[in-house]
Amino acid sequence: MTILDKFKALQGAYETVQSAGHDPFTVCFDEVLSPSEAVLKGKRVILLGTNNYLGLTFDSSCVDKAVEALMQAGTGTTGSRIANGTYGNHAELERRLAAFYGTRAAMVFSTGYQANLGILSTIAGRGDHILIDADSHASIYDGCRLGHAEVIRFRHNDPDDLARRLSRLKDAPGNRLIVVEGIYSMLGDTAPLKEIAAVKREWNAHLLVDEAHSLGVLGSNGRGLVEQAGVEADVDFIVGTFSKSLGAVGGFCVSNLPDFDVLRIACRPYMFTASLPPSVIASVTQALARVQEDPGLRARLNINAQRLYHGLEAEGFILGPQVSPIVSIRMPSTEVAIAFWNALLGAGIYLNLALPPATPDNAPLLRSSVSAAHSGTQIDTVIATITAIGSELGVIAPRSHRPDM
Ligand code: PMP
Repeated sequence: MTILDKFKALQGAYETVQSAGHDPFTVCFDEVLSPSEAVLKGKRVILLGTNNYLGLTFDSSCVDKAVEALMQAGTGTTGSRIANGTYGNHAELERRLAAFYGTRAAMVFSTGYQANLGILSTIAGRGDHILIDADSHASIYDGCRLGHAEVIRFRHNDPDDLARRLSRLKDAPGNRLIVVEGIYSMLGDTAPLKEIAAVKREWNAHLLVDEAHSLGVLGSNGRGLVEQAGVEADVDFIVGTFSKSLGAVGGFCVSNLPDFDVLRIACRPYMFTASLPPSVIASVTQALARVQEDPGLRARLNINAQRLYHGLEAEGFILGPQVSPIVSIRMPSTEVAIAFWNALLGAGIYLNLALPPATPDNAPLLRSSVSAAHSGTQIDTVIATITAIGSELGVIAPRSHRPDM
C-alpha cells in the first residue's frame, strides 16, 4: 500500500488513452512558429486548441515591451507584493484595467485560477451562500472549496432554476453571490446574462462574471459578455485571465465596490504567492492596449469562428449551441474521440481532447479554439481534414451517402 494507490483507476484510464497513440497530456512541440503553427516531431501542425484568441503571443509590440521590461527590471519579482513591494508596472496595469472596465479598482493575480481561488474564497465567508452554474470551471469550484460559504449549484444557463434556489434562501442570513462565466470553456456557449442580472436584482444578490474566454472577444470594446449584454451596472465583480486573448499569463478582478482594496490584505492567494514578472506585466499592458486600438482583431476572430462553425455544421457534425471562438465537436464515444484526436494530430492538426468527467453531460469532445491569427486557408484545411476523418470513423455520413450531395 502506498499513499498513491487511490489513483490506480485514474492511472488505468490514462494508460488506455496513451495506448491509443500519442499521449494527449504530454504533447511536446519541437518549436512554436507562430500563434497558429508549430513543429511536432519534425512535422508542421496547425494549432487549433490554444485559446490564443487574438493571436497576440507573437505581436511585435507586446514582445518589445516584454523585452524592454526584462532588461530594465530583471526576470522576476521574487516574492509577493505585500512582502517584496509592488513594481511600478503592476500598479500601472491595475490602473489600465480599472480604466478599461470603468471600475473603481482592479487587482492583478498570478493566474486566472488564483484570481477565482482568491476572490471566491475571500468575499464569500461563513454564513454566506455562493450560487454557481453547474458547468463552472474547476477554478470556480476550487475557490468555493477553499472558502467557508455554503455552495449551491444551479442548472447550467438556467435563470429560473437560479431564482428558485434563491427563493429557498429568502429567510437565510448572510449574503448571496451568483457566479457565472461569459463564454463557457467546453461548448463555447454564453451565459443568459440579462436574465441572470434580473434575478440578481430581484433577490438582492451580488454577481460575479468570469470573462476568461470573453475578454477581448465579445462586446463592441472587447469588454466581454458583460458589455455585450449591457449589464455593466449589475455586475459587482469581473474576473479574467491574461492567458488567453492577452497572450501571456496572469489573472485579475475588477470591481466598483468601494472597499474592494481591503482584499489586498485579506485574500491569501493574492498575499502568499509571488507577483508576476515585470516582463509579463509589460506584455499584458501592451496587449490590453492592442485590444482597445485594434477592433480588427476581434472582427477577424469572429469571421474565423463563423467559418469554422458553419463549415463543420454543414458537414453534419454536432457542435455547441452557438457560434463562438470555442468550437467543440461532440463524439459518439471516448474511444472514437481518442482515435479521432490521434488521426487529426497525424494529419497535422492539434486541438484539445476533452473527456468526461471534465465535460458537460459527460460527452467526449474535440474542442478547438479559433484565433484571429488563423488564415482562411488554415480554417478550410481544418474543415476538410476533420470531415475526411469524421467520415472514415463514422462520426458523420460519408459525402457520397448524404442525400443532398
Ligand atoms: N476561468 C475559466 C473559465 C477558465 O477557462 C480558465 C482557464 N482555462 C481559468 C479561469 C483560469 O485561467 P488561467 O489559465 O489564467 O489560470
